[in-house]
Amino acid sequence: MKYMTRIFSGIALLIAFLSIHSCTDYGLNVKKIDNHLYAVLGEGGNSGVFFCDTAVVVIDTKMKQGAERLQRWVNDKAKGKKIYIINTHVHKDHTSGNHLYSNPTIIAGDYGVQFWDAISSKEDLPNRWLADTLLLPMGDDTLLIENVGQVHTYADVIVYFKNRKVLFAGDIILNKYHPYLDEHAGSNVENYINTLSGFIKEFTIKKVVPGHGEIGGSELVNNFRQYMIDMEDVAAYPDNEIKMREKYSKYLSLPLNRAGFDQTISFINKSGTLRE
Ligand SMILES: [Zn+2]
Ligand SMILES: [Zn+2]
Repeated sequence: MKYMTRIFSGIALLIAFLSIHSCTDYGLNVKKIDNHLYAVLGEGGNSGVFFCDTAVVVIDTKMKQGAERLQRWVNDKAKGKKIYIINTHVHKDHTSGNHLYSNPTIIAGDYGVQFWDAISSKEDLPNRWLADTLLLPMGDDTLLIENVGQVHTYADVIVYFKNRKVLFAGDIILNKYHPYLDEHAGSNVENYINTLSGFIKEFTIKKVVPGHGEIGGSELVNNFRQYMIDMEDVAAYPDNEIKMREKYSKYLSLPLNRAGFDQTISFINKSGTLRE
């Protein structure tokens, strides 16, 4: 009897814990980086949320229910502060929650309205196109928001927290995921390799929040750069295919598109960007 009571009280405690947990985070996968900065992973692209005294910065707004839950989570904590949204790129898994926020400044690379509407949607349209670099002092940090040009799409934007040395890379860096290489949006494998080399030289990086997959250190930059180099190698020398399939066998594919080992190789073959 005593044993049963212990089991029941254990179950009650577990239920209480789970309900508190889901109530505060709405079932989102929230990773606290410090008291002000959070990464919220999955359900579309990974997001970042930075809280300071006067404003809240949201990096990428997810899609579908994930977008709605993220907006509720941000709203609970923002308490009416000004909202800045930064979109790392145009794809819907990163932008579909833009319209849920009230009166935000929405910053994205300078795709222009027509291109944006063709790939994302009118209701999520940004109101500030970024052609180069913006330094945004916020609370205890300064955000370097940079349009790095054509990499995963025609105008990818990264956000680097200068004091924290945390990089939000959008889909320029994925962690153990095959990339979605989209010719309509401008994906360019050669530019991935050059841009990622640039990150290694330009930034001191303590943490990387990739567009998809878990948070990591600066090794994520190298790993994804190496992925692109290896794939170009397979495209040029098919003899290496078995070895590389083995090396990347644990890489996942995003549920919403046809990304994978074969798609990467055929994209490289089609775009004819083979390196010498
Ligand atoms: Zn994505
Ligand atoms: Zn993308």
